[in-house]
Amino acid sequence: MSEPVHQPDAEADDRPSRPAMLRGFRRRCPNCGEGGLFQGYLKVVDRCPVCREELCHHRADDGPAYLTILIVGHLLAPVIHVGFTRFRPDPLVMATVLTVAAVALSLYLLPRLKGVVVGIQWARRMHGFGKVH
Ligand SMILES: [Zn+2]
Repeated sequence: MSEPVHQPDAEADDRPSRPAMLRGFRRRCPNCGEGGLFQGYLKVVDRCPVCREELCHHRADDGPAYLTILIVGHLLAPVIHVGFTRFRPDPLVMATVLTVAAVALSLYLLPRLKGVVVGIQWARRMHGFGKVH
């Protein structure tokens, strides 16, 4: 019986996912957590202004929008149910309040969830993040 072969893993967990995702949620660089991740509302910077990590390799695409819809829908669906059955508001009032809530929550979550997706891609060395320069 041979000993298990130890393979040096170049992709050992030097990029843990959880801190990278949390830094992304705070709209910070997944590498250092200091530099801003975005220029403007959703445009990811090419390089972190603090640690110079390249962040242009992300491919977040529609992922953040999908996650935003998923979360906002699951949060507001029970609110619709409880709000309507308990308080019986005027339909126009209820529609207005829920529309404002849905838009505000979506605008809050979208850049943060994009930061989470970029953080996952950076931590797992997806797309161009794994290349050695
Ligand atoms: Zn950084």
